[in-house]
Amino acid sequence: MFRKVLIANRGEIALRIIRACREMGILTVAVYSQMDKESLHVKLADESVCIGKAVPKDSYLNIENIISAAVGTGADAIHPGFGFLSENAKFARICEECHITFIGPTAEIIENMGNKSRARELMIDANVPVVPGSDGILKDLDEAKKLAKSIGYPVIIKATAGGGGRGMRIVWRATEMEKAFLMASQEALSAFGDGSMYMEKYIQNPKHIEFQILGDQYGNVIHLGERDCTLQRRHQKMVEEAPAPYMDENVRKAMGDAAVVAAKAVDYTNAGTIEFIVDKNNNFYFIEMNTRIQVEHPITEMVTGIDLIKEQIKIAQGDKLAYTQDDIQMTGVSIECRINAENPEKGFRPCAGKITELHFPGGRGVRVESSMYAGYIIPPVYDSMIAKIITWGKDRAEALTIMRRALGETVIEGIDNNIEFQIDLLYTDAFEKGEYDTSYIETHIDEILGKREV
Ligand code: ADP
Ligand code: ADP
Ligand code: MG
Repeated sequence: MFRKVLIANRGEIALRIIRACREMGILTVAVYSQMDKESLHVKLADESVCIGKAVPKDSYLNIENIISAAVGTGADAIHPGFGFLSENAKFARICEECHITFIGPTAEIIENMGNKSRARELMIDANVPVVPGSDGILKDLDEAKKLAKSIGYPVIIKATAGGGGRGMRIVWRATEMEKAFLMASQEALSAFGDGSMYMEKYIQNPKHIEFQILGDQYGNVIHLGERDCTLQRRHQKMVEEAPAPYMDENVRKAMGDAAVVAAKAVDYTNAGTIEFIVDKNNNFYFIEMNTRIQVEHPITEMVTGIDLIKEQIKIAQGDKLAYTQDDIQMTGVSIECRINAENPEKGFRPCAGKITELHFPGGRGVRVESSMYAGYIIPPVYDSMIAKIITWGKDRAEALTIMRRALGETVIEGIDNNIEFQIDLLYTDAFEKGEYDTSYIETHIDEILGKREV
């Protein structure tokens, strides 16, 4: 059993992990950048260690400093949260070498699945449907042009090291390929240190449906149902829902089975997510696996009753999964709204600064995950997500009614935020009827914003 866990992250996910550890009787070590000295995760952990300057590469991405903090405080394990080092195979390997348990899959699995183009190849071998596209990475512009011609425009070129919605470019016609290819690989090189690109057919008007996976160290793999994460801006999720509304039961079953096959094919351990896109004809395609806990994990917890962070810790400790697939039952519906410090009217431009007033919602069916407090200064260097509001209802109508009520109670003053936008979005007919696709927000932005005047 772990005695002490270090959390190599910040913000709400660091709090979420600290809380799970406390409930399990495990001591916690927070790490923080100089900018985050006043952060809640520092105050809530049993111990804390400063690991460097504000810029992530000096602190939350600084492997040496994080390992030193773990060794210095005698931590048995490190939970990486999401973002930062959570999908860094080198970090997982160094943890292993230092006899500190990395709470996640092995370095080898991260290497295979974190490289998005290699993951594609592994899935092809495992007979999991992938989007038509390139075999491995694109050698050069010439190959990109030839391939796009044979699969048909539009195509999407994606950085094999990409994540967080970055490093992707849709190419609508041959004349745009040269510029798109060169710029995308340049961007990927500077953002991820790896300019390798691969290609997929651009599936128009799809839904994003993903399956939560848990695998233990003894080969047991189960899925905990799906989440609909179709509502996105800049390829990043904004609203998530479990289970996916209006989904065909046969498609659900086929996708769940494919997700388990995918995870088993790489001997997956710990929590992970298989992401798919689903086209209008219910064809589904694997797009990537996230080998970590995900932002939207709480909605799965709300409908299954399973604490995913505790499961991650137990699996890393070597416990056997306490559930079989048949034990997993979904009850009710859960919705999550990501609350970001950003301005929807100005292209979702992020906003830093001081939160002068703050009131979060409560009451029946409401869960809030946030590390914000009144007086907190949002630094400009990190992600713009400041809270997650999660609701649960016995059915979709109830979860939605509670969400609208909860968003209406929320007060955030001093910084731009997307609360009003989320309310408007949840009142659209499209949301109510489930008639939206991954570009809905971007293609209907004026309509959604316009609702406010009426
Ligand atoms: P999820 O798939 O869990 O919804 P997101 O794509 O929103 O996750 O990413 C979660 C967090 O991790 C965000 O803060 C995002 O910016 C960050 N992130 C994800 N992948 C990467 C990556 N490859 N490099 C840097 N940050 C990343
Ligand atoms: P990331 O690693 O940044 O999360 P993903 O590969 O998961 O990137 O893609 C993020 C989003 O981009 C998807 O949810 C979807 O909206 C869009 N997308 C990715 N690939 C395709 C595709 N082949 N066709 C259409 N949309 C895509
Ligand atoms: Mg993704």
